[in-house]
Amino acid sequence: MNTMDTAKSVQKWIDEHPDFIDDWWVERDEFAGMTSPYSIWLYTKKGFIVSGMDAHLIHESNAKDFLAMAATIKPCDCEQCVS
Ligand SMILES: [Zn+2]
Repeated sequence: MNTMDTAKSVQKWIDEHPDFIDDWWVERDEFAGMTSPYSIWLYTKKGFIVSGMDAHLIHESNAKDFLAMAATIKPCDCEQCVS
């Protein structure tokens, strides 16, 4: 999977799930060492949690892992979400 395909598959998921997303971006960094020159960040909107990470955010170094985590987003009624 090249970088262009990666961007497309992530962008497609983003476009299809606007209700889940507060903010997201792709950052050039060395989060995954030599295996990936970038990482993908996403913060969920109030009321949703990434249950696979037990957190209100995703930080992954490739589209495959990002989409796997994105698939675990669920409604959330924690203190932070309901306040
Ligand atoms: Zn929550």
